[in-house]
Amino acid sequence: MGNRRQFLQASMLATAGAILPQGVAAPKTSGARVVSTWDFGVGANAAAWPVLARGGSALDAVEAGARWAEADLCNATVGRCGNPDRDGVLTLDASIMDGDGRCGAVAALEDIAHPVSVARAVMEKTPHVMLVGQGAQQFAVAQGFEKTPLLTEQARRAWREWLKTSRYEPQINAERQARPGDKTNHDTLGILARDAQGRLAGACTTSGMAWKLHGRVGDSPIVGAGLYVDNEVGAATASGVGEEMIRNAASFLVVELMRQGRSPMEACREAIDRVVRKRPEASKRMQVCFLAMNKDGEAGAFALHKGFVYAMHDASPGPHDRLHDAASVYRTEQT
Ligand code: ASP
Repeated sequence: MGNRRQFLQASMLATAGAILPQGVAAPKTSGARVVSTWDFGVGANAAAWPVLARGGSALDAVEAGARWAEADLCNATVGRCGNPDRDGVLTLDASIMDGDGRCGAVAALEDIAHPVSVARAVMEKTPHVMLVGQGAQQFAVAQGFEKTPLLTEQARRAWREWLKTSRYEPQINAERQARPGDKTNHDTLGILARDAQGRLAGACTTSGMAWKLHGRVGDSPIVGAGLYVDNEVGAATASGVGEEMIRNAASFLVVELMRQGRSPMEACREAIDRVVRKRPEASKRMQVCFLAMNKDGEAGAFALHKGFVYAMHDASPGPHDRLHDAASVYRTEQT
């Protein structure tokens, strides 16, 4: 049997969960896949993939992807270049979870560049799940994370511009805005991975809603709202107006719908239906997006409004920066 044929057969067998013939090693990438929210998900996946490609864990992969987004100097909605709250303070939220239910999170963290890694340290080094504000920062510093002022000049300028017309009203009340949660205001990096051993993990990291009330925490660090992972079923993450995800325990809901037999896309769609049913009027003016992957690595997404894309990367041949458009309830940009 030629090498290529042997490889293909091995990967098909491994994907199907079958036992490989003696002497045929499973390729390290077999069944591995990573998906991430938004177009910057391409970069996050590119940072996560090498971990999966060398046979690393889904957990290490999602952390690597999230760290890439947190360091991205072009991203005003995640990490060090994020926009601040209405008082000009940049506060970061992040969570990380594996398919065995281990999880960690930080919220309203200031001046620490990689909240996802602090979230992982909370998970691995404390008996707790979430640390917030000063306490989270204190813990991070004790763990060796550098404390450094993060607010960029560009973000400061954007905030000053916002102050000129905002009358200091926080962008938290969905009904008052054109489209809170869309690309111009806030996008979160949600990243889900399946490794070659079939283990799942996810991470979610954000600077949250720009010009929010100081102390506001969104869905991203709330396990079950912005992120949920279960090896028995699949994983889900969210982006958009976090208050809606919290109201609906949305990522948990998506995973539970997959448990009941829905495909990832159907599960995301049904969760969006739930958001619309509860707040039909508000739903016309805000963005909410879900991305899910089941335990076999099948991915799907759905959004309230058109415009949500996700990136997928796996070992299949061809370009690895494919962006997928999520279907949506509302087809026009302005409804
Ligand atoms: N969901 C995040 C939040 O509400 C932000 C976003 O995804 O745009 O904080």
